[in-house]
Amino acid sequence: FAKRQTTEKIMLYFDELNIDSSRVLLLDAEIRKAIEQKAFDVYYQPKVDTKTEETLGFEALARWNNEVLGFVSPGEFIPYAEETGLIVPISEVILEKVFEDSKRLAELGLPRLPIAVNISSLHFQHPNFLESIKGMLGRAQTDASFFEIEVTERTVMNNANETVEKFNELRELGFTLSIDDFGTGYSSLSYLVRFPLDTLKIDRSFIQQICHQQEKQAVVDAIIHMSHRLNMRVVAEGVEQQDQVQLLRTLDCDEIQGFYYSKPLPFDEAVRFMQTSLQNK
Ligand code: C2E
Ligand code: MG
Ligand code: MG
Ligand code: MG
Repeated sequence: FAKRQTTEKIMLYFDELNIDSSRVLLLDAEIRKAIEQKAFDVYYQPKVDTKTEETLGFEALARWNNEVLGFVSPGEFIPYAEETGLIVPISEVILEKVFEDSKRLAELGLPRLPIAVNISSLHFQHPNFLESIKGMLGRAQTDASFFEIEVTERTVMNNANETVEKFNELRELGFTLSIDDFGTGYSSLSYLVRFPLDTLKIDRSFIQQICHQQEKQAVVDAIIHMSHRLNMRVVAEGVEQQDQVQLLRTLDCDEIQGFYYSKPLPFDEAVRFMQTSLQNK
């Protein structure tokens, strides 16, 4: 039965995305192998202080280079993994590596800057999510306070009452909490104020046209004001150009993440980025 269910999900997935079925079957088999072998990599994209340009932290992003399929983008394998439930074991592989990398920063004599991790809906809503993440922290002998959990606006609004509860428990463990891709879902403000959030990340789709569309700029301005009144920090995602940086500075956005400062980097390069940032301080 489980097998049939999976097959149905696979069919659904390639129907929706119009991908040829042989690729999906291959993808499915290779993802399962990659989970066994913990073959996913983690890249780190710096988050930079809008005013001082100091590196404040990183976002961990999954990367997968497969011997048969080549480089497969997260935009392809993450939605597939969410469809099939494989996101849970993938996420565990990623978290394990992130916890280890964070400890490596300390071993290198560097400050353990906070690392944000993406948690998908299915995983976040999984009844065992809290227990499993607690277990992983324990095995890694690391503290939750070095990590930020990013969940999308869609995830939190989907099941708002449960989210409040889960957020409170994660907070108690020591995690900071962030809403990802803000502006792409449907937020209820009455819920937003109930969530114990630390950070709000404005989606790239707002940032892209921020210098050329008055309406986008007005929305971003409003989001920043609202967030600050609610004691949240604001991160702008997908910043690529200097005029965007300048505008975001005048709008009082706290942090910038985007190709303008850096693409997501393998651990060693992220370390070098951080060292350079510390030297320029
Ligand atoms: P996200 O969490 O919103 O991550 C930001 C995405 O924007 C990343 O894409 C990043 O490479 C990209 N990005 C950052 N700055 C720029 C920029 O200036 N310009 C452009 N064009 N893009 C920029 P990526 O790494 O391909 O990941 C896509 C999505 O896949 C992520 O969106 C996230 O939803 C998901 N994802 C990635 N890694 C994981 C993971 O470990 N677990 C889960 N559950 N989801 C993940
Ligand atoms: Mg994210
Ligand atoms: Mg995002
Ligand atoms: Mg996004």
